[in-house]
Amino acid sequence: MNALAMLGSICRNTNSLEHKLALRHTAVNLDSSWFWYIQDILAKLNLPTLSDLLSRGYTKAKWKSEYKRATEKYWRDKILRLLATYPSSRYLNPLSMKFGTPHPVISLAPCTAEQVKRTATTLQILAGTYMLQSNRANFNQHGTDSRCLLCKSRPENREHMIARCEATEHIRDAHRRKLYDILCKHCDQASLLQETIQNPSLFTQIVLDCTNPVLTHMAPFPCDAIREIIACCQHLTHSLSAERHTQLQRLAPRIQKKRKLRQRVQRVTKKPSALTPVSNPHA
Ligand SMILES: [Zn+2]
Repeated sequence: MNALAMLGSICRNTNSLEHKLALRHTAVNLDSSWFWYIQDILAKLNLPTLSDLLSRGYTKAKWKSEYKRATEKYWRDKILRLLATYPSSRYLNPLSMKFGTPHPVISLAPCTAEQVKRTATTLQILAGTYMLQSNRANFNQHGTDSRCLLCKSRPENREHMIARCEATEHIRDAHRRKLYDILCKHCDQASLLQETIQNPSLFTQIVLDCTNPVLTHMAPFPCDAIREIIACCQHLTHSLSAERHTQLQRLAPRIQKKRKLRQRVQRVTKKPSALTPVSNPHA
C-alpha cells in the first residue's frame, strides 16, 4: 500500500527526478529496478500499467480509492479461495470480514480480561486448532480412539463438544436457554428459533459464528444483537472447555492406565514368539 501511495506521488510530481526515472523505465524496461517490482504489483492487483498511470494523471484521492479497492478485492478473493480448501474453516464466515477491520467474532466482543480468555477459546475452536479427540485420532498413527473420553458415545469433534456431549449438558442447558431469550428479542419466529437451537449443527454454527449465511433463514441479526449473541456464546464455549478440562483431569489416571495397557499389548503382539522352533539348516 505504501509503495502504491509513493507511486501515485511520483506520477503526480512531473518535475521530480523519480518521475523522469519512471518515464525512462517505461521506455527501456530495466530489470530489477523499483519500477520493475511495482509493475509486478500493478499486474497482480489488476491496476493500470505504469505507462497508463504516468499519462492519465490520477488525483491523490482517486488513486488512493483505486488501489485500496483493488488490494481489498485481491486479498478477499485469495482468502476465500484458500478457505474453501480448509475443512477446518467450515464454521467461519469470511464474507462478514471487512478490509482493515477484524472479524465480528473478535471486534464485537466486549473487551474485559475475562472476555479476552473466552474469545481466545472460541477462536481456537472456530479455527479448528482446539485439540479434540478426533484431531488426536487424525494426527496419531497408534490407533487413538476418536470417541469422546467423557461420554464415550461418539467421535469428539466440534459439533459434539458444543452441541451434543451429554457429560457437559448441565453447562450447555443454562446457556442455551439464555441464548434463546436473546434470539427471541430480535426474531419473532419462536418455533423457528426453537428448531434452530435444538439442531446440533445450527446450534454449533450460532455459537461459533452467528454471522454465517447458513443462518440467513432467520434474517440477519442487527449489530447489537450480534454483540449480545457473541458474548453469550463465548461464555458458553469457555465454560464447556473448562468443564471438559476438569472432567478430563479427574479421568486422567484411568486414561493413563488404559493407554499403558494398550501400548503393552501392542508391544507383545509385535514381538516374535520365543517358542517358535528354529529351523535346522542341515536337516
Ligand atoms: Zn462426549
